[in-house]
Amino acid sequence: MKLTDRDLKELFELADQLGKKRYHKLTDRDFENYRKFDYWRYINGNSECGTTQESKDWVEKHSNWYCPICGENYSAKNGKTIDHKLPRAQYPWLAMNFMNLWVICQACNQEKGEKHWYEYEHYMFVRHSELYLAVKAARPSQLLESLKDENNRRGY
Ligand SMILES: [Zn+2]
Repeated sequence: MKLTDRDLKELFELADQLGKKRYHKLTDRDFENYRKFDYWRYINGNSECGTTQESKDWVEKHSNWYCPICGENYSAKNGKTIDHKLPRAQYPWLAMNFMNLWVICQACNQEKGEKHWYEYEHYMFVRHSELYLAVKAARPSQLLESLKDENNRRGY
């Protein structure tokens, strides 16, 4: 970790710790949520993916004209996508957790890929420092707090 941001280091440790513990205790419900997202997801600009009215409404409510990361108009960047802040592949039980979802443009979604949130912040800090504050502002602190609570409650 080259970043000296203490918050980011704590976030890294927490997400990693909780993620690994929880990943080994996946339930049928977790898999169901993981699959549910495939059907529910919204990608406007790419017809390959399924969309539902519910996800369209959600996107309508949680976005405006501009991508929160790059600040570009969505239509100039191939449309809107729903992205998982903590990647679905590594945090499948958070696939349908709304605290884990945000709307970003296709290009930013592709660049983010399957990175962990902390990797993503670090990547943006190094590669696109002018966009770092926008990414930091979207940090899923509330979600991580709730993971911490779940962790304590279940005693993992
Ligand atoms: Zn963007």
